[in-house]
Parts: sequence; structure tokens; C-alpha cells
Amino acid sequence: SKVSGRHSKHESAYLPIHQHKAQLIEAVKESDFLVVTGETGSGKTTQLPQFLYHAGFGQNGKIGITVPRRLAAITVAQRVADEMRCVLGKQVGYQVRFDDYTSQDTVVKYMTDGCLLREILADPHLSHYNVIILDEVHERSLNSDILLGLLKKNFSDRGQSSTGRSVPLKVVIMSATMETDKLSAFLGDCRVLTIPGRTFPVTCTFGSAVGPKDTQSTAYVKEVVKLAFDVHTSETAGDILVFLTGQIEIEQACDQLFKKAESIDYRYDVQDQTVEGLLILPLYGSMASDQQKAIFQPPPDGIRKCVMATNIAATSLTINGIKYIIDSGFVKQLRHNSNVGMDILEVVPISKSEAHQRAGRAGRTSAGKCFRVYSKGFWEQSMPEYMLPEIQRTSLTAVVLTLKCLGVHDVIRFPYLDPPEERFILDALKQLYQFDAIDRRGRVTQLGELMVEFPLQPGLTRALLKAAELGCQDMLLPVAAMLSVENIFIRPGGTDKQKEADEKHRALNSSLNDFATLLGVFQSCKSSERPSAWCKDNWIHWRALKSAFSVETQLRDILHRLQQKNHFPVETFVGSRTDMFRQCLCSGYFTNVARRSVGKTFCTMDGRGSMVHIHPSSALFEKEAKVNWVIFHDVLVTSRVYMRTVCPIRYEWVKDLLPKLHEVDVYDLSNVARE
Ligand code: ADP
Ligand code: MG
Repeated sequence: SKVSGRHSKHESAYLPIHQHKAQLIEAVKESDFLVVTGETGSGKTTQLPQFLYHAGFGQNGKIGITVPRRLAAITVAQRVADEMRCVLGKQVGYQVRFDDYTSQDTVVKYMTDGCLLREILADPHLSHYNVIILDEVHERSLNSDILLGLLKKNFSDRGQSSTGRSVPLKVVIMSATMETDKLSAFLGDCRVLTIPGRTFPVTCTFGSAVGPKDTQSTAYVKEVVKLAFDVHTSETAGDILVFLTGQIEIEQACDQLFKKAESIDYRYDVQDQTVEGLLILPLYGSMASDQQKAIFQPPPDGIRKCVMATNIAATSLTINGIKYIIDSGFVKQLRHNSNVGMDILEVVPISKSEAHQRAGRAGRTSAGKCFRVYSKGFWEQSMPEYMLPEIQRTSLTAVVLTLKCLGVHDVIRFPYLDPPEERFILDALKQLYQFDAIDRRGRVTQLGELMVEFPLQPGLTRALLKAAELGCQDMLLPVAAMLSVENIFIRPGGTDKQKEADEKHRALNSSLNDFATLLGVFQSCKSSERPSAWCKDNWIHWRALKSAFSVETQLRDILHRLQQKNHFPVETFVGSRTDMFRQCLCSGYFTNVARRSVGKTFCTMDGRGSMVHIHPSSALFEKEAKVNWVIFHDVLVTSRVYMRTVCPIRYEWVKDLLPKLHEVDVYDLSNVARE
């Protein structure tokens, strides 16, 4: 039948990349650096590591592949393990932050780019690896850009000799769209191999629901549902892929489409007689791994599949059988917000190049169609040609510390593919100085050496280390873990359920301190006899809490290891435990202090003086009247700026820290950085 015919079990044997197998192996043998480019879905990510494995590159060393997205690392590793007929975690494994699925036997290792960066810290010569493949370089993730610079610096011709490796490291850079000339030139004019893809024409149509002025509107959600419904009822067989921006939106859209689809009378409403039903599936980063498999499976005969996905389906993961694309025109992106001095997830228009990439997903196996919800005017006036690389739009504090710890003192003249603005680097240096991670001359302090070991935001790490000094890490470790997993509070749809959930959540607030609430939830659940039932009863995500338990253990292990190895400062504290807890938080969050200005408005104290408000989810929301000073974990920006996860503090606790925000002349740090 049509449906099963599209999905041959052995499809991977016929991928375009197979015709280039010998050429690829030979190129890796002959050159230390190689750029490989090819159409998405041609088999780069899943096949090249297998070619190299079978050609012997897995002997006495590993083949490491980095991808920017956690879910992509997990999914692809699972797929390759299946193809190689081995158990995941044996020859083929993966590692993502807080989740290591590798063993002694692992030869083909998929990981996020952040994980490889941490590995380089522990082993700068990458002595466990024969090959490193940087995948999805066109995504221009911050860590991947930094890795590019580091690999160039340490392993290109001049570098290799000083690494003490017996065999040179082979580096393969893979990209779906990025100008390969630029990459090749950056890597000393290294060789470029192109895998020609086979693509079919895709007809694109513009809509009218989103115009050039609607860059802040969320009207696209309703519109994609309508379009998906129209495609299902009027177009011939073939699956649908919808691009949205995030989990909540995707679940809403799935819900809405499901309700609409339920009412279809297939005798009259659907024009294509081969389609008898609709299977709606979500796809986003924080999904449970057992849910993902259905995405890739062909739907039953006569059923049309509709996947509602984030940008992960643009180039990271390829779903077979897609014939229709519905493109919202938006993506969620981390951006530095200079008003609040923090990185914030924002929904922004995609680039034109991204839009082409999305449309292309419909033309892999036959001619396809792409329905854009936005107008031609939006395309012309609101969409940039290319996305700004992450390195040019997010905070560099963590990577600058990593670079410094790797001995890269001159972080301004590091070989960046596209250098960030100098003021972003200076901001990072300034923040590291404020956290005592570097000294006035830009050198890493003892504390900085400890901080870099934690896969956490620097502020959170600082608070945790302060707690360790005071001997109250048992309070901060759970908090750090809770802030590192996805949101633990369930927000159900429907007003009645929402009311019940809100009440349950409010009952969990033991004090006016949201950090204490996180600690309380962690401890109550952990000590409960039936933790999953406890979660269900309190509208808490059990899966998220389970990962928080695991993260807490891992952070505890890191801390323990450091305490054994290093001289660890010890301090005593006079006062109550809750005060001690809050003071620890202050040492990490004094960059996020706000003081009441008028009424319910607070004003940040970092020199920017932004007006901020307490978010309704905070324990302080209705009871803030007596509170004049607060710290906060992050902000949500709508028409107002809302502080989330808030804690009241006393001015004395930050009095000595606040001047640090203004004290250092950033010139000091930068001059040294240039030395
Ligand atoms: P590229 O990296 O060049 O974009 P991939 O190696 O990711 O290509 O994908 C090659 C093929 O393998 C695609 O047809 C894709 O659909 C298929 N594939 C990848 N992962 C899975 C999976 N988990 N289940 C089923 N098919 C998969
Ligand atoms: Mg790929």
C-alpha cells in the first residue's frame, strides 16, 4: 500500500550518503580536518559515524559526535544503536547534561556540544578520541562555535604536534546549510565534501494571518490548527509537519486540532478517499523518550500523521513521509536582554534561510507543499536573511570562564568564526570578577577553578559554593537541581483544573521564599512513601522531579569530589538556618537584586534600574506588602517584566556585594585580557 511502501525497513541502506562511503572514509584518512555538507536527511548524522566505525576508526579510541540539542543526541543514538543491532549504552551511547548513557564499551558516542566542552576541560588533548564530528554546525550554537575555535587552535597542523597524541585527531565538521567556503577557510582551507541530495519541488504559499506588524502576536497558533485541518480534509495522502515554538503552544495546538478532527465525518468531509483518520503527535525538547518513537513510526494504513514540532524537526531530526509543511514563521530563541541584563527566551521571526529549510522537509520523497501562515509582507519586512549566531546574542560568562580555565587568557583574540561584540566579552569578564571567579587581572581564581566544574549557571554555582563553605549544601543542592530541570509545576488546561492546581501549589508555599518552596517540594516528595502519588496529588510533574533527584545526586558527587581534592574554605554562620539559606542565595544572585520603588513596582539594583514586578506564581505575589528588598532567579518579559522564583532579603546581606556591580572599571579586565 501507499503508506507502508514509503517506509521500507531498510531505507537507511539507500540513503544518498551511501554512494559516497568510500570517498568519505578516504577523505578522513587523508586529512585531519574535513567539512561535510549535504541536504538534511541524507544520512550524515546516523551513517558517517558507522562508516568510520567499520573502517576501523573505533579501534583504541572513540568516535565522538556532537549535536546542539539534547533530544537529538538521545534519539539519534537510539537509532544508530538499533541499526548496529546493539544495546544503547554499549558500543553506541550518548551523553547529555545530567544524563550519561555510555559505558566502557562505548565507541560511537553522541553528545551535546556542551558535554564535549566539559570533556575538553578534563582532557584537553581529547586522548580518548580518534575522531570528533561536530554536527549541525550551521545551527551556530554557542558551544559549537567555541568548539570550532578550540579544535582549530589545538588540533590544526601547527597545534597537533604539541598535543602529545600518538595519532592525530580527525575532525569532521558537518553542516546542512552554512556556507562551506567560510568554514573551510576558517579551518585552513581544509577539504570539503558535498553529498548531493535528491529533493523534489515544494510549492510554497503565503497566508494572511500574520503580517509585518504582527511580530509579537500569537495568532499563528490558531492559524496553524486551521491550516492543518484544511490540509487533512482537502489534500491527498501524505503526512503533515507543523512548526511551532514550544511545548505549551504545541500542546494547545494538538488539543485544538484533536477536537476539530473528532468532528469530521469521513463520508462527506474528507476529499481524499485514502485518508480515514488523523494521528496527532507532539515533538519538543523536554518530551519523555518513550514518547518519541511514535514520531518516526509510519502511521497505520489509511491514517494521516500530523507532527507538531519545534525547530528540532528543521534539521536535527528527519521524519519520513512528510508531504505537507505548515510554517508558523516563528522560533523560540535565547537572547540577551540589555534592559534586564539577562538571557531570555523570546519568540522571534525565523530567518528566510530557516524558512527554506522548513519548506524543504516536504520534498524528501515526492513533491510537497508548504503553507506559511505569514504574509509576503512579513517575509519581506520582518524576516532576516540569516539568524544571528548564538555567540552574538547571549551571555558569554560561562564560556569565557571555560576558556580561561583551558588556558585561553586572551579571550578577545580567540579564533572565533564570527567574533562576538567586544562589550559582550567585557560583560562576561565583569560578571566573572563579580563572582570572584577571576581576579582584577583577569586570572582565574581558586574559586573560579571550582566553579567551572559545575554544569550550572555561574550565579547558581556561586550560591552553592557559598553554602558548601557554610556547611548548608543540603539546602542549596536540591534548589540547584530543581532549577536545572524543566518546570515541575503542572499547569493543566481548563479553568477548573487550573484552579485546583493553583490551590495545591499555593499550599506548598511554606514561607514567602520561592526557593524554599522548591526545597520543600523536593524534600516532601523524597520522604514520601509513594512519591509519584504525592506528585499527582499536588499537581507536580513526577518525571521532572525524578530527574531533579538524579541531578541533585550528581551535583553532590561533583561537590564531594572537589572537597576531597581541594582546600575548601570554611566559614561559620551566626543566625537562623533560613537566614543562612537566604544569604547563600544572595552571594549568587546579588546581580539580581530589586528594591521596592512605588506600589507593587520594584527597581533593579544592577545599575540599569529596570522596573520589575512579582510574577503571580510567586509566594510573594499577594503578600509582598512588607517586603522591600528581593532577589530573583529569572524574569518573564511580556508587556511588563516579571520576576520569577523570588526571595525576600535584608539590605545588610547585599550591602557589601552591591558596590561590586559598579566598582570595577571594565577596562582593567580587558587590558589584561589583551596582554
Ligand atoms: P542528516 O544528518 O543528513 O540530516 P540523518 O542521518 O539524521 O540525516 O537521517 C537519515 C535517515 O535516517 C532519515 O531518512 C531519517 O528519517 C532516518 N532516521 C533517523 N533517525 C531515525 C529514527 N529514530 N527512526 C527512524 N528513522 C530515522
Ligand atoms: Mg543530521
